[in-house]
Amino acid sequence: MLQETEHVQCLIIGSGPAGYTAAIYAARADLKPVLYTGIVPGGQLTQTTEVENFPGYPGGIMGPEMMEDFRKQAERFGTDIRFGYATSVDFSGPLHKVVIDEHKTIIADTVIVATGASAKWLGLESEQKYNGFGVSACAVCDGFFFKGQDVAIVGAGDTAAEEATYLAKLCRKVHVLVRRDEFRASKAMQARVLDTANIEIHYNTETKEIVGDGQNVTGVHVVNNKTGEEKTIPVTGFFVAIGHKPNTDIFKGWLDMDETGYLITKPGTAQTNIEGVFACGDAQDKIYRQAVTAAGTGCMAALEAERYLAEKEYETAH
Ligand code: NDP
Repeated sequence: MLQETEHVQCLIIGSGPAGYTAAIYAARADLKPVLYTGIVPGGQLTQTTEVENFPGYPGGIMGPEMMEDFRKQAERFGTDIRFGYATSVDFSGPLHKVVIDEHKTIIADTVIVATGASAKWLGLESEQKYNGFGVSACAVCDGFFFKGQDVAIVGAGDTAAEEATYLAKLCRKVHVLVRRDEFRASKAMQARVLDTANIEIHYNTETKEIVGDGQNVTGVHVVNNKTGEEKTIPVTGFFVAIGHKPNTDIFKGWLDMDETGYLITKPGTAQTNIEGVFACGDAQDKIYRQAVTAAGTGCMAALEAERYLAEKEYETAH
């Protein structure tokens, strides 16, 4: 296929709250940003229902609609938004190379990585069928809709522990489904789960199917992997908290990342180990993972890209 090459001042990879916020700031600073959306334009929020905790929307807003607003705001200041997927990078020189859809090479003075993360799912058909109708991968986003109801959460790490205690404050009862006979979560987090009266832990328990009436979740069918006993626990909400995977595979070998793939930035900044390459949003955040924190770090990345370019220009002129 014909190789195309284009030079841009600021390339943004990703179209979640981090990418679009970086685009708004970069475009207003006249960096003429080019943004590639990735496979899911709008990112993870396009797969949720109502967002009630993003400041500025007092009545709440649907996730896809909010991301449409982000996109329009980025476009309003001249961001060049394109559908495309970054397939490889080469950060060996002063100018950064990013290949889009395996055939177009972008040579960028600055790159803002906002590729986000993807929630891991169990992979059950019923999980997909009821996603948004009782099945969720974010308790902080969707727990409120299950106030006073019985819910289940699968997972045994810090996220599951944290989300179980969060849900316990809202819901009547929380069933925690742990596949082994112990938690992976830190001792402190576990202690909070064990001390919460309306949490019931089911050890050695695997989810076989999420049960519903065709529209909403009504229960979860589980099996005890030690005894083989099967049962259905009646719940209206089913939360999956088995981890996230940052979308950073293409940066392996170039950008510093932790053992799970989260990009490492210099504390208090969006700077990666490569000059002129910045990271923001969930690709570098395994703790907060909120739209508002992603937007905040997107802003930081753009301001730092602008400062970096201004310094380079000054150095060249003197
Ligand atoms: P983790 O990878 O730590 O844990 C995932 C959990 O899901 C494990 O208990 C695992 O079980 C379980 N699991 C995986 N696949 C399945 C499956 N198919 N069926 C059932 N259970 C499954 O992910 P987390 O999101 O919990 O945490 C990610 C990182 O973020 C960690 O480093 C954590 O410490 C950190 N974090 C820190 C927080 C804080 O400090 N406040 C809050 C949240 C996260 P098993 O144990 O059997 O492998």
